[in-house]
Amino acid sequence: MAAHSTVSRDCEDQDKEYVGFATLPNQVHRKSVKKGFDFTLMVAGESGLGKSTLVNSLFLTDLYKDRKLLNAEERITQTVEITKHTVDIEEKGVKLKLTIVDTPGFGDAVNNTECWKSVADYIDQQFEQYFRDESGLNRKNIQDNRVHCCLYFISPFGHGLRPLDVEFMKALHEKVNIVPVLAKADTLTPLEVKKKKIKIREEIEQYGIKIYQFPDCDSDEDEEFKQQDQELKDSIPFAVIGSNTVVEAKGKRVRGRLYPWGIVEVENPAHCDFVKLRNMLVRTHMQDLKDVTRETHYENYRAHCIQSMTRMVVKERNRNKLTRESGTDFPIPTAPGVSDSETEKLIREKDEEVRQPPHTQTQEQECVTQECVDQECVMHDECVQESVQEECVMQEESVQEAEHCAELC
Ligand code: GDP
Repeated sequence: MAAHSTVSRDCEDQDKEYVGFATLPNQVHRKSVKKGFDFTLMVAGESGLGKSTLVNSLFLTDLYKDRKLLNAEERITQTVEITKHTVDIEEKGVKLKLTIVDTPGFGDAVNNTECWKSVADYIDQQFEQYFRDESGLNRKNIQDNRVHCCLYFISPFGHGLRPLDVEFMKALHEKVNIVPVLAKADTLTPLEVKKKKIKIREEIEQYGIKIYQFPDCDSDEDEEFKQQDQELKDSIPFAVIGSNTVVEAKGKRVRGRLYPWGIVEVENPAHCDFVKLRNMLVRTHMQDLKDVTRETHYENYRAHCIQSMTRMVVKERNRNKLTRESGTDFPIPTAPGVSDSETEKLIREKDEEVRQPPHTQTQEQECVTQECVDQECVMHDECVQESVQEECVMQEESVQEAEHCAELC
């Protein structure tokens, strides 16, 4: 009986100390699930490297039903096109609006100089749209089309990176999270995959390309998690295999590629890094990719935009300042619209005017009037001086402000 009452007292004490903010994560969870999630993934790289096949394999959808493939002649002068496919997928009540941005024609023309430009422009346009929407009056329900990740496909047939790969990644690494993938890994032996990965990582370093960096894992994470995290980092560039067909392997139906000498299984970790890439994109790092887009890439764009706007304003002000100093606009520093000598002349005339005794006034009245006139005169003088000073201070302030802005920029 005594033990029971101690326990209930303990519970009561705990209840008293429990405010309830521990439920905050649940509230956030409920709200986010209700709202749904969105993610925009871009795929880039030479055509024929298996981009569309991989995207379909990743999300188990057919996003490229209406794709029209161009023949060689059409591709000679082809410019890079940007296409967008959106699908709403749902899993265990969680909705995801997935947008895939494809870049057909990239690297296909005879002359591929600056063919990354339209991709860079597209990313900037999405930032610009978001910046406008965010600065507008109605900020509810803003459509966020910013690109959160770009899977860049590297050919398995070359010796490391090609100049076009270097150019593309260097042009875009400040705008988007680049995740490099080694395409069609089933065309390489395990040793070749290993060597190619090392070479590509070295070249990425050598050319100063800033690909997406996985966040460091917390020191209090368990050893297994830390090991998985390290494996993920060592897998860059992910060696991937894509397939839209289901084949039978060891009595199981799996996504794979059937060859005369055997079956390559897309989801077998011994065959390629497909599962690692999918887990990273969907299960472990989707939110981080979105955070880095918002906090780093978009912030850079926004800061750059504001800086250019400020520069324009300062330029405009400086131009006005120059016109003012050259005396064509406002003469400084005097009452508006009146020159220095004109002001003095006006004061003198006014003084004399008020000092003139009116003919009908008595001596006494005259005295009083004279006193008033003197006062009026003083007041008038002070008034003019004050207005001149005010104008002076205002001009000084605006010049200082412009100079401060110029310094900041
Ligand atoms: P995209 O132009 O980059 O979108 O390439 P596609 O996805 O259309 O693939 C081009 C060709 O490569 C098709 O015949 C695919 O079946 C084939 N393909 C796709 N992925 C792989 C892969 O991982 N390995 C191999 N060997 N072939 C692939």
